[in-house]
Amino acid sequence: MSSLSVPPPQCLLKPFVSPQRYMFGPGPSNVPPRVLAAGSQPILGHMHPEVLEVMDDIKSGIQYAFQTQNRVTLAVSGPGHAAMECAIFNTVEPGESVLIAVNGIWGERAADMAERIGAKVNTVIAPAGGYVTNEEIEKALALHRPVMFFLTHGESSTGVLHPIDGIGELCHKHNCLFVVDSVASMGGAPLYMDKQGIDVLYTGSQKVLNSPPGTAPISFSEKACEKVFNRKTKPVSFFLDLSWLANYWGCDDKPSRMYHHTGPITGLFTLRESLAILTETGLEDSWRRHQEVAEYFHKGLEEMGLKLFVQDKKARLPTVTTILAPSGYDWREITAYIMKTYNIEISGGLGPSSGMVLRVGLMGCNCSKTSVDMVLEALADALKHCHKSKV
Ligand code: PMP
Repeated sequence: MSSLSVPPPQCLLKPFVSPQRYMFGPGPSNVPPRVLAAGSQPILGHMHPEVLEVMDDIKSGIQYAFQTQNRVTLAVSGPGHAAMECAIFNTVEPGESVLIAVNGIWGERAADMAERIGAKVNTVIAPAGGYVTNEEIEKALALHRPVMFFLTHGESSTGVLHPIDGIGELCHKHNCLFVVDSVASMGGAPLYMDKQGIDVLYTGSQKVLNSPPGTAPISFSEKACEKVFNRKTKPVSFFLDLSWLANYWGCDDKPSRMYHHTGPITGLFTLRESLAILTETGLEDSWRRHQEVAEYFHKGLEEMGLKLFVQDKKARLPTVTTILAPSGYDWREITAYIMKTYNIEISGGLGPSSGMVLRVGLMGCNCSKTSVDMVLEALADALKHCHKSKV
């Protein structure tokens, strides 16, 4: 007689095989064989010299990808949300005023996170598919006197690429840190952390970088570090405390690195390989390819009679395209048909674009005219075969 009250789960006795699929939604994107191979290497200790060297290489790769000289540059162990919380929890103390640009779900979530730590949250709101102007931002900075302004560069829920130029200067004029989410845009659209006066910038591993989800590059300017390292209160999260993370990543003046948590070794190997690919490709060539492929895609969609959700051409995010859901169709039937027939993932809307759009993400190795042709063919076929109401 066994002493166990929970029997062995039969489901685990069958193998799991992950199917090949074209990951053309807003993320995660496909992981190329070279990156998968990097992740299949033997596990080492998280403080072994080889792993510390990988971490240093990652730091250099992030500095290149972000175009920054910041010393405090590292990868958070966790998805994009972890980097978001790392940025907000470290730069803001309870009771402080923050300003958040909301033009999609990521601004909404940043506001929620700031509220949870007791910040006074103020927002500047743009309609879904639009963005806030520098004039509106400056007015709100003067009115609310925030310590931090949060902006999403690539709003993957609406498909907007938010203009950045000039905002860093405005923030600094008003003695405020400029925090930017580039989870969906980094590597796919021009971004210059230092030149654009960004104080905290973060991204994710699973979009343009084509790594598995679970690591999130982040960097803090000297100005941001000054505030973070002179806080009156401890950040609410031990795990995301920048003092600990900066030491673990060898970004501080301390003579040795201390154990903080066990980093995702495999995720570090894959992130290093993805950053190596970006380095070989060249950042500017990567930006250029995403822009060219996006324009080719948008032209093809318009030739099919489909309409883009973002009116202003300059504000169209090259990595994630939002297409107005074709009228008369159920968008769910379209995405399901394309998945079933072509093994391609595209997705519906999110947050303010929910039910209104189809979202197609072509990022990193998925960003090619061949992928565009596949998606256009699948969409044209779906529009022929899916049910169209007459009303
Ligand atoms: N910000 C943006 C702009 C995103 O697109 C995403 C992911 N869709 C996130 C943050 C959150 O990233 P994750 O899902 O890796 O937590």
